Amino acid sequence: MTVKVAVLGCGSVGSQVVRLLLEQADDLEARVGAPVELVGVGVRRLDAPREFEVPEGLLTTDVAALVAREDVNLVVEVIGGIEPARSLILSALDNGASVVTANKALLAEDGPTLFEAAEKAGRDLYYEAAVAGAIPILRPLRESLAGDRVTRVLGIVNGTTNFILDKMDTSGAGFTEALEEAQELGYAEADPTADVEGFDAAAKAAILASLAFHSRVTAADVHREGIAEVTAADVMSANDMGSVVKLLAICELRQVNDDGEEAVSVRVHPAMIPSSHPLASVRGAYNAVFVESEAAGQLMFYGPGAGGAPTASAVMGDLVTVARHHLAGTRGAGESAYADRAVLPMGETITRYHVAIDVEDRAGVLAQVALAFAEHGVSIQTVRQEGRGADAQLVVVSHTATDAQLAATVDHLRGMDIVREVTSVMRVEGGEE
Ligand code: NAP
Repeated sequence: MTVKVAVLGCGSVGSQVVRLLLEQADDLEARVGAPVELVGVGVRRLDAPREFEVPEGLLTTDVAALVAREDVNLVVEVIGGIEPARSLILSALDNGASVVTANKALLAEDGPTLFEAAEKAGRDLYYEAAVAGAIPILRPLRESLAGDRVTRVLGIVNGTTNFILDKMDTSGAGFTEALEEAQELGYAEADPTADVEGFDAAAKAAILASLAFHSRVTAADVHREGIAEVTAADVMSANDMGSVVKLLAICELRQVNDDGEEAVSVRVHPAMIPSSHPLASVRGAYNAVFVESEAAGQLMFYGPGAGGAPTASAVMGDLVTVARHHLAGTRGAGESAYADRAVLPMGETITRYHVAIDVEDRAGVLAQVALAFAEHGVSIQTVRQEGRGADAQLVVVSHTATDAQLAATVDHLRGMDIVREVTSVMRVEGGEE
């Protein structure tokens, strides 16, 4: 028996999957227990330049026909985007093939349709490569931690934004300058919107939250803020309090009433985290996911979050698992959404704020600012005064409160006579509450 594989897409990731399938055919056969044969590679243009030369006769632009082939047991989808990827995956499952994909955008937008199709077909749908590239994180959540209770997942899941923020931190550069350098070095696309505005991280947050909390979470459920508004002053202010600024994907389980009912909070935004937090040491374009669970405690998964070969490594891991299932006539666990938890609105999310306020330098200012926080039920953890006269600034770090309370406090501050300007507002994560 041979496991027949079709690969859809032969770009950065697909070309590396094809390379590994061909170069490691003997090892794959030994590991899977049967030959793994690449029967076709679907692309848009036959003559596009490729990082790996695909052997004669394998490339085809008739992707629909490749997926419909009766002899294909396993389809790897690495085209990306919503269509035609979704139709091709559904068609593959319908034809009895299992699917491995790296398509975070599609999974976060319409995962349930795909999971239901896999369930109906009795086939596997694996997608380790969709979150944090080479880093094994979905399998640990789905399998290793299946007997534990995950309460929180904090991730740096976008290498481009981590590179930019790290650059701002180490060189004092502003956002635009750091973005330009990222583009020159190939860490950011010419159109960096998906990364910089947090869309990519939000898709990954939806996937992580769904798995961690056994509930359906889509990209539309994720509160999203990007890093374009982060200033050099914010980064310096973070440094002054022994913190760094990171774009975090945050997935948390929150108790919402005294009956023990729980909901999911899922969001992507820049946040200050203490330099002592394990995620603070994630530099450059690297990714990491920090997981807290009841029995295991704190776990950290770290590594390259993108790139053709690292992502192909995760695809190949899934491919071997799915091929083994195929040979054994079985399948892995499907979607687990039994807990069916609701997603909390951002306003009800519990967080802390760091607020820098330019104030009039006169007696009583501190008391008035403190009163504004108190009026909205927000208690202050620390307050620091910097500068004098026209440069007088207060830097306040709050205790935890709802995001709505904190946002109302900032609005209130902005309307006060003694406040010249609220110069920086950023959430604080990963420290004492
Ligand atoms: P890519 O370099 O843009 O490659 C896309 C491939 O799909 C190309 O080979 C292209 O064909 C083919 N394609 C596009 N539209 C098609 C269509 N309508 N019909 C048939 N083939 C079509 O993309 P990538 O970076 O490899 O990403 C692939 C997937 O992996 C995406 O879902 C992405 O989110 C995910 N991913 C990527 C990375 C990474 O670091 N790149 C990391 C994690 C996950 P031509 O070559 O003929 O144009």
